[in-house]
Amino acid sequence: MEDSTLIFLGKDSGFLENNNSAYLEKNKELILIDCGFSIFEKVKKNFDLNKYDNINVILTHLHNDHAGSLSQLIMYLWFIFHKKVTIISKCKNIKKYLKITGTPKDAYEIKEKTENIKFIKTEHVKEIDSYGFELKIDNKKIIYTGDTKTLKPFESSLKDADELYVDVSKFGGVHLKIDEVIEQLRNIEKNGTKIFLMHLDDEQYIMNIWNKKEL
Ligand SMILES: [Zn+2]
Ligand SMILES: [Zn+2]
Repeated sequence: MEDSTLIFLGKDSGFLENNNSAYLEKNKELILIDCGFSIFEKVKKNFDLNKYDNINVILTHLHNDHAGSLSQLIMYLWFIFHKKVTIISKCKNIKKYLKITGTPKDAYEIKEKTENIKFIKTEHVKEIDSYGFELKIDNKKIIYTGDTKTLKPFESSLKDADELYVDVSKFGGVHLKIDEVIEQLRNIEKNGTKIFLMHLDDEQYIMNIWNKKEL
């Protein structure tokens, strides 16, 4: 799991401490994926925010474990570092969300896609829309599912993907259930895609299944 392009800040499911989030640094650019309620503190403590010319946050959906400290981060960057954040998101209510949390309009801009990021709409919960995405960087194609209960929307993009970051859980429900997708994940891996499991509700249970060698 060490050679992932994305670096995890956390890969816990929603009710645990380390919200699922990852980042990537390139030159003076930071790309952060999601900003749940535990992420602001981590970014504040561990990043030298002065050094970036561009700070981008990809937002998969508006659940608190993915967006809970987004406004805080935007305001911190704006008022303390005088930096404007680019939010890359297709969430229907993103503008409203930032408005009702009192985030100054000047402190951010919202983009629905970029040259190298394309969202893939997925199924997670009925209350809000949620997205995974395809990211092209350093000649690599990366697929990140976000929270999802199905791999279907990702199937065509996965054919030539280099890396897959995938939401798996013990209990399933609104997330992929590891027991149900393990075979499909093994096939994707055989096809040459590196797989990184995330959003784990029971890491031990999931890793036991994942690390079981085939007979
Ligand atoms: Zn989540
Ligand atoms: Zn969610």
